[in-house]
Amino acid sequence: MTHSSEQIISCPKCSHTMNQLRVENDITIDRCVNCGGLFLDVFEKEYLVLAKQRAEEVDLALTRQVDDMDQVRAITCPRDQSRMIHIQALENPDVGLETCTICGSVFLDAGELTQITKKSLLDRIKQTLV
Ligand SMILES: [Zn+2]
Ligand SMILES: [Zn+2]
Repeated sequence: MTHSSEQIISCPKCSHTMNQLRVENDITIDRCVNCGGLFLDVFEKEYLVLAKQRAEEVDLALTRQVDDMDQVRAITCPRDQSRMIHIQALENPDVGLETCTICGSVFLDAGELTQITKKSLLDRIKQTLV
C-alpha cells in the first residue's frame, strides 16, 4: 500500500485545493472545493463503490452548476504531471472524462459521476425487462 493517496493535490482544471473524502474504509477520493471535480486514483475500484450508493452524495452537480469545466481539457495529472487524455466513459458515451495513461487515475467534472451511474443503472433495469 502506498501513501500517495494521502497527499493533498490541486485540481487539474482550476488549481483549487481538493478535499479528501473517505467513501469507504480504505477508499479516499479527492473533490475540488471550487468546481466540484472528482479525482479517482483507482477508477474501477472507486467507481464501483461510488456507483453502488455514494454517487449523489459526493457529486455536487445537483446543488451547484458548473458548466464551463468540461471545456477545460488540456490538463495534467496531479500525481505525476503527465498529460491526461480525454475519453468517453464506457458506461455512458455521452460523458467525456480525463484519464492518466501513466497511473490510471480519472478526473470527472461535477455531475459526470451521477450521469454515468444513472445511465448504468438504467441499462441494468432495461436488461432485466428484456
Ligand atoms: Zn476544480
Ligand atoms: Zn497520473
